[in-house]
Amino acid sequence: MFCNQCEQTAKGTGCTVQGVCGKDETLAALQDLLTYALKGLAQVATRAREQGVIDHAVDRFTCRALFSTLTNVDFDPDRFVTLIDRAVELRDGLKARLGETDWPDGPARFEPAGDIDGLVARAAGKGFAPLEGEDADVRSLQQTVVYGLRGVAAYLDHAAILGQEDDLVYGFIHQTLAGTLDPSLTLEDWVSLALKTGEMNLRAMELLDAGHTGRFGHPEPTAVPLGHKGGQAILVSGHDLEDLSQLLAQSAGKGLNVYTHGEMLPAHGYPELKKYDHLAGHYGTAWQNQGTEFPAFPGAILMTTNCIRKPKGDVAQKLFTTGEAGWPGAPHIRANGGPKDFTPVIQKALGLPGFAEDEDRGRVMTGFARQAVLGVADKVIEAVKSGAIRHFLLVAGCDGAKPGRNYYTEIVEKAQADTVILTLACGKFRFFDKNLGDIGGIPRLLDVGQCNDAYSAIRIAGALAEAFGVGVNDLPLSMVLSWYEQKAVAILLTLLHLGIKDIRLGPSLPAFITPNVLQVLVDNFNIMPITTPEDDLAAILGPAKTDQ
Ligand code: SF4
Repeated sequence: MFCNQCEQTAKGTGCTVQGVCGKDETLAALQDLLTYALKGLAQVATRAREQGVIDHAVDRFTCRALFSTLTNVDFDPDRFVTLIDRAVELRDGLKARLGETDWPDGPARFEPAGDIDGLVARAAGKGFAPLEGEDADVRSLQQTVVYGLRGVAAYLDHAAILGQEDDLVYGFIHQTLAGTLDPSLTLEDWVSLALKTGEMNLRAMELLDAGHTGRFGHPEPTAVPLGHKGGQAILVSGHDLEDLSQLLAQSAGKGLNVYTHGEMLPAHGYPELKKYDHLAGHYGTAWQNQGTEFPAFPGAILMTTNCIRKPKGDVAQKLFTTGEAGWPGAPHIRANGGPKDFTPVIQKALGLPGFAEDEDRGRVMTGFARQAVLGVADKVIEAVKSGAIRHFLLVAGCDGAKPGRNYYTEIVEKAQADTVILTLACGKFRFFDKNLGDIGGIPRLLDVGQCNDAYSAIRIAGALAEAFGVGVNDLPLSMVLSWYEQKAVAILLTLLHLGIKDIRLGPSLPAFITPNVLQVLVDNFNIMPITTPEDDLAAILGPAKTDQ
């Protein structure tokens, strides 16, 4: 196997024996083959679009299937067999509608094998393992684009569930996947496609923002309890707010409390979710701490998306998956055209002991998305003009298990008292419960939301730039980002598409970026690796004030 799509890849170069995430050789081969099959489907879908044939079942399937190949989403090989078969079925259905037979050899004609061993054999040579004599820089950019597309597809899947779709983005995904088979595309073409992927991701995040705010209202600043109430309980992790909404509706009045985990924390800010009294609080921290946090949770656990890890202790007996998340043997709650039926999760929780008593562990604030922040824009602008706020730091992105991420805790702790920290995604769990105080009533730590709420942060930055009559790069704003998986790749490409410069990225740079491609990023965007909190703060803010 060869996989280097995430930040924790083995030795910083690639997982070749077993994924650090737990993905084995069989699963890696099935994911490579699914991506290959999707390229064939994309070739046919692209030609179909040219002839005015658009099939949203194909579009939605492509996004779901790409989402399945994200790091820590689906570890169930049987589901990948089904996805590969379905990709071929949809491809052949589209071919039949077009009535054409002149398809090129390769994925447009690929036929799946009847069993997993046969599929694994067919996956040979179809992944991203380096090949002798190839252009390493083109491969690097192709990987950047394909991994970015996986992130875009994840956001499109969430948005489609909430009724938000855009044919333009679907068409781009097919065209670009098919483009990976085109040897005539040059290095410059792939640079353009990488930036275009960022542009399309901005649209995908905009769709998801419209889906979330349309369905659940605009987030409001909300204090979220970190402790628990005595009683039986359900824990919901991942990113899918619609799953949480349906579970809350179905579990109301049953004596259960529902807690969020990981990237579900911002759910507490949405009016249509916080209205449920039994949405009782937030439990635990970021995804990589499941190994200790899940066994200690005395109720049922629902994983709605990434990041799922191998269940430890008794977790396998109380774990459910839904959406694209999957673990072999864990019961999977499927969508059957209407609302999902979460009865098995509720019944499991009712059969488990729950928390013996109340425990108060304090509160954290969330809900500082664009409407909440821009609602006090006058106050923010005045604070900047008066010098009360010297600088904004966007400290955002994924958390992860590898050492080196304490940097993000320390840079927040050491940032001077006249700075405001904007944060989003699960990297915030490094510092989310710190009391940083406020500046004239404006909290110094503002949780904008989930990773996809990068859209909200971009809107906030754009509005501030407009108010000050400058470009975003001229604002007193610096971005210090952490990445782990492919949604972060998509967001980084969005920031580059928007021309954002001077981004600090860590804890390590992507293994799939070659030195030449990195140089392009440095030359055009001055992207740089994180160093130490002290040195980076000094570079961003200048010398500390004497009263600090
Ligand atoms: S997803 Fe990450 S950890 Fe898993 S196999 Fe790929 S590079 Fe390795």
